[in-house]
Amino acid sequence: MVTETRLRNDIDEILPGVIADRRDFHQHPEMGFQEVRTSGIVAERLRALGVEDVRTGIAKTGVTGLIRGTAGGTGRTVLLRADMDALPIQEENAVDYRSQHEGVMHACGHDGHTAMLLGTARLLQERRDTFAGTVKVLFQPAEEGGGGAKVMIDEGVLEDPKVDAAFGIHVAQEVPVGTIELRAGPAMAASDSFTFVIQGKGGHGARPQATVDPIAVGAQIVVALQTIVSRELDPTHQGVVTVGAFRAGEAANVIPDTAELRGTVRSFTPENRQLLAERIEAIVRGVAAAMRAEVDFRYRFGYPPTVNDAAMTELVRGAVGAVVGAERVIDGPQHMGAEDFSYFLERVPGCFWFVGSKNEERGLVWGHHHPRFDIDEAALGIGIESVVATTLRYLSS
Ligand SMILES: [Zn+2]
Ligand SMILES: [Zn+2]
Repeated sequence: MVTETRLRNDIDEILPGVIADRRDFHQHPEMGFQEVRTSGIVAERLRALGVEDVRTGIAKTGVTGLIRGTAGGTGRTVLLRADMDALPIQEENAVDYRSQHEGVMHACGHDGHTAMLLGTARLLQERRDTFAGTVKVLFQPAEEGGGGAKVMIDEGVLEDPKVDAAFGIHVAQEVPVGTIELRAGPAMAASDSFTFVIQGKGGHGARPQATVDPIAVGAQIVVALQTIVSRELDPTHQGVVTVGAFRAGEAANVIPDTAELRGTVRSFTPENRQLLAERIEAIVRGVAAAMRAEVDFRYRFGYPPTVNDAAMTELVRGAVGAVVGAERVIDGPQHMGAEDFSYFLERVPGCFWFVGSKNEERGLVWGHHHPRFDIDEAALGIGIESVVATTLRYLSS
């Protein structure tokens, strides 16, 4: 209890600095793999703190550093991760720390993640004598679609020293500030996508018999694709097949040559992921063939599902319960959104949890990726405390 009170006091002390960092990053957002300014500040700050073995330029702009416990024994290595990238969104907030970069905005909260991990590094560095083992702090580029986590893993961040567990957090605008949400098992979906071009035969809109109408074919395919989730997936499982783009034709009286369709696919297990991929392709090819059209089909596997280890989730639940109170730690729903922290969790056990950042009274209610997204910065202190408490608990367990 004494140590918990001390931790909270220390967080209160550094919080103004953490908020200042978050606002600075917010004013200078950078897109994925271009986080040059951000990662430069991160590396400089880690070195100033005395964090060891600070490595830069991993996956272009990624940074890692080591905090070695001095409490004796070799101990394990735990990885703590923050993402640094922003989004191609024009900010519509009137705050004095609004984005200074036209058309780029920290609209997902990664500015807060980066600032929180710097604060976390500071507190753990100051507590080196209380734990055995090593904390590897990792700042990654390009979570928003670029898969920066995967590139960093390919460049070796899970080795030297070998990582035994990984933890990450995300601020959450669906969750009130002061509440923490977590879930054991598959917590966020895999996100895959497809694109296909239907090759028909264009012609006069009044002479369909001389054509192969790719719009009619595409319409049948869109309807048929909806039967995969409703008729082929186990109804107690979750999945999504969305056709989000359908481009064809220019005029009311012309049947075009081609139609292009694109879609996104979400699932939570490797089996369902495979099922959806196979059945989408079979239906697209089958319906197109039945209707005399050719098809050029491409399927792309994106981020895997984010799967929290059950034992690690229990460890986090205990640690964060001591931070916000057990009654404010809630079992979250499965999120259909995807997260590239999943690549770490594919390789080492760990947990990714959500730190509530919504505040209705203050009007901080806009969701992630919205031009008016903004967080209650009290979440930053809670996030740091939850990660420090989890890390210390893990290293002493
Ligand atoms: Zn996002
Ligand atoms: Zn995000």
